[in-house]
Amino acid sequence: MTTNSERLFQEAVKVIPGGVNSPVRAFGSIGSTPRFIKCANGAYIYDEDDNKYIDYVGSWGPMILGHNQKAVLEAVTEACKMGLSYGAATAAEVEMAKLVCELVPSIEMVRMVNSGTEAVMSAIRVARGYTQRNKIIKFTGCYHGHSDGLLVKAGSGVMTAGVPDSLGVPAGCTQDTLSAVYNDLESVKEHFKRCGEEIAAIIVEPVAANMGVVPPEPGFLEGLRSICDEYGALLIFDEVITGFRLGIDGAQGYYGIKPDLTTFGKIISGGMPVGAYGGRREIMEVVSPVGGVYQAGTLSGNPIAMAAGLTQLTILKEHPEYYKTLNENAEWFFGEIEKTVAEAGLPYQVNHVGSIGSLFFTGEKVRDYDSAKTSDTKAFAEYCNYMLNHGIYLAPAQFEAMFLSMAHSKEILEETLQTMKQYFL
Ligand SMILES: *Cc1c(COP(=O)(O)O)cnc(C)c1O
Repeated sequence: MTTNSERLFQEAVKVIPGGVNSPVRAFGSIGSTPRFIKCANGAYIYDEDDNKYIDYVGSWGPMILGHNQKAVLEAVTEACKMGLSYGAATAAEVEMAKLVCELVPSIEMVRMVNSGTEAVMSAIRVARGYTQRNKIIKFTGCYHGHSDGLLVKAGSGVMTAGVPDSLGVPAGCTQDTLSAVYNDLESVKEHFKRCGEEIAAIIVEPVAANMGVVPPEPGFLEGLRSICDEYGALLIFDEVITGFRLGIDGAQGYYGIKPDLTTFGKIISGGMPVGAYGGRREIMEVVSPVGGVYQAGTLSGNPIAMAAGLTQLTILKEHPEYYKTLNENAEWFFGEIEKTVAEAGLPYQVNHVGSIGSLFFTGEKVRDYDSAKTSDTKAFAEYCNYMLNHGIYLAPAQFEAMFLSMAHSKEILEETLQTMKQYFL
């Protein structure tokens, strides 16, 4: 029998490339097809066949309070009644900017955009404009959106120019993107020794979460900070996933490192399409119309999106104990996963920081892209499909994070662990 999801997918592939509007949704890496989602509430999502799942994707991070959180929903509903968009300045944008500056001490000015991709693309333009330098360093396995200059192939430390990792990206667009190895300061120093005076910025996910979750080792972020200071380059933290999740002040608060620029997305607007970038005043003042770095957006700072973001961030600010609960629940949950696989006699690795984590199907300690890639993706696919068929919605790829929310109660987490135990034991 064909399910509604299968029928929708058959229709979708005729009119949308791959049937999806973002590749990971196609479920290709687990050899499956997508469940089409009809609605969501709390920790649960429901598909078009009325299957109910405990959701560990949470729209890839934004749903830290759970789906359809009451106050966020109300704020959005009220905002809609005032008109959907004006393309003009609004009070909510001022409030949002003030809140972000208050919550994240390294940020004195902030610009709203419409996605994480846009936030990163803009922050890099600002870094280049401010330093008057062209080269940037990115770490293999970190994802910073799909702008041309950041789609580079995994490179070796001695490479002097990035090679495009996508058709349609001219080599010229990646020639100034240098690749380094996550958690390996030597690979960064190598670039700086050769062309330190030409490097505008290092961009990094302070906790990598797009090759599965890979925490920074002690000294790594500190090392990046001091290399940047030594050479007058800017340090950009891409906190699209970690921002407002590891704590109200993100990874920079969690690890106590001050970047020069920070990018946000996903979580900053509670599920609306928003991104933001910000940093020190003197740097942000290069942005037009004050300075010479052009960046614009017709729908940027959209009032509905601002209402959602402001409400979610305000709740998080007023409830610091939420982070304590989230992080304690996650500590227990990921610990139990570790015990389960160990009991099954499997050497698999569990990495987690705060409320994000990954189970890697490998016996190697995962500290960078190469070690992540030793994972048995076939074994992961089998596990992921089993979980999906038993009411647990995991990110359909080995190299993604699991996201916990305030709606994931101990009982819900326990139910998930029982399903994992059924599978592994
Ligand atoms: C998702 C992501 C992006 C891109 O954000 P989009 O909103 O998908 O464009 C950038 N950086 C990181 C760290 C991300 O996880």
